[in-house]
Amino acid sequence: MQCSLWNVVSSSIKPNLKYNKRILSNLHYRLYSTSEEADLVVIGSGPGGYVAAIKATQLGLKTVCVEKNPTLGGTCLNVGCIPSKALLNNSHYYHLAHSGDLSNRGIEIKGHGKITGANQVTATKDDGSTEVISTKNILIATGSEVTPFPGIEVDEEQIVSSTGALSLKQVPKRLIVIGAGVIGLELGSVWSRLGSEVTAIEFLPSIGGVGIDGEVAKALQKILTKQGLNFKLGTKVTGAQKEGGTIKVNIEDAKDPNKKETLECEVLLVCVGRRPYTEKLGLEEMGIEKDQKGRIPVNSVFQTVIPNIYAIGDCIHGPMLAHKAEDEGIVCVEGIKGGPVHIDYNCVPSVIYTHPEVGWVGRTEEDLKGEGVAYKIGKFPFMANSRAKTNNEPDGFVKVLADKATDRILGTHIIGPSAGELINEAVLAQEYGASSEDVARVCHAHPTCAEALREANLASYFGKPINF
Ligand SMILES: Cc1cc2nc3c(=O)[nH]c(=O)nc-3n(C[C@H](O)[C@H](O)[C@H](O)COP(=O)(O)OP(=O)(O)OC[C@H]3O[C@@H](n4cnc5c(N)ncnc54)[C@H](O)[C@@H]3O)c2cc1C
Repeated sequence: MQCSLWNVVSSSIKPNLKYNKRILSNLHYRLYSTSEEADLVVIGSGPGGYVAAIKATQLGLKTVCVEKNPTLGGTCLNVGCIPSKALLNNSHYYHLAHSGDLSNRGIEIKGHGKITGANQVTATKDDGSTEVISTKNILIATGSEVTPFPGIEVDEEQIVSSTGALSLKQVPKRLIVIGAGVIGLELGSVWSRLGSEVTAIEFLPSIGGVGIDGEVAKALQKILTKQGLNFKLGTKVTGAQKEGGTIKVNIEDAKDPNKKETLECEVLLVCVGRRPYTEKLGLEEMGIEKDQKGRIPVNSVFQTVIPNIYAIGDCIHGPMLAHKAEDEGIVCVEGIKGGPVHIDYNCVPSVIYTHPEVGWVGRTEEDLKGEGVAYKIGKFPFMANSRAKTNNEPDGFVKVLADKATDRILGTHIIGPSAGELINEAVLAQEYGASSEDVARVCHAHPTCAEALREANLASYFGKPINF
């Protein structure tokens, strides 16, 4: 497949960015001159930063948001969640078709922000000029960057990161993905659907990254393998060399280094995670020390060691997820205004946007075993759900884990159609401390995939679902 089809796929990204720009233009609605002292300077306009800035202006804080890139929205809107989902959606329809299965000053200042005092941020613009902003509070929302793989240099053409994988000029015949975590699986799926022979190499014995339930990970691997993806698990990549138009990738068994192999591909995608980004932010000068993983330590109200300097999002602890960054931004700003600050990280959902999707929240079975918690399981397969069957999407199941004694829901794991939407009902239930009986007794519209969630909860509390 050559560029013309790629253009069709990529053109869908543009409206998304345009739409997000419209959302971001809300930031401009309270103009504020930087010659006055600000209440809050937000450094970074990713989902953490821009949401915090919007919330801050809504709460009446004079807010300045400094962003070093020419476009707003951070990783999520520019090279993360949104463009990757646009590709996933369109490559899915492409696959179906082929398988016959039918700124302004005031709130936004473009520049690199550096903390030059407990009450001061200096923004350096592209032309080298600087602007000093005095402020009561500073919120660091500088996000994360791709973790490099030692010895393998990314050129974003043949050897790409997730950013380069969003805009390959043509579909590679063979694509090797280092890392079968969330991003590796999503982007691997995209290019596999578009015609690449995709092999994912993963050091761990299972796919899906941290936090996925083991049973769900196995089911996902089976489904993706059926779709044509190849996996080499328990395998580590030891190096890669470019040779003409191809790349030779050296791998070895994670347990037995004598078992070596060399694979070949046209494009190598390095997807081994992301790390906090805090370059030239002035942390050292301010005496804000990072932890071993490069994160900014904060207390329960997101204060760094300097009480009026806060940090949220990918640059602090916790999962690197856009909605986690957004929620932190909101409660952090509410806290600055004197409100309560609380996030239950056990209720932050995760989603893998493959086809079918995977969504989960709370504890996995492995967690509960490790913690010695007595639990019960309620399961319901989508092949017994009328809507999933009608839509010819019978793969997957819902698995609910509840406390054996109290019936309180401890975790929900979904692999199947619209899992990324369905998981939100489970999050709501868990956030409010629901039992599996609570969810099972709630009337659910018919025919919907959400009935599978109800049935799994019924299986958990009563021992049996109705329709299986
Ligand atoms: C391919 C891919 C797919 C993803 N898919 C999902 C998904 O489906 N769902 C999900 O929840 N998450 C997803 N993520 C993760 C998500 O993008 C991040 O968790 C989220 O963007 C973090 O938000 P943030 O505000 O903390 O930081 P970022 O979005 O990284 O934003 C930080 C911003 O700060 C700016 N900045 C940094 N330093 C400075 C400075 N000194 N001065 C001025 N500006 C500065 C940066 O330019 C950037 O714009 C994905 C990531 C990738 C790479």
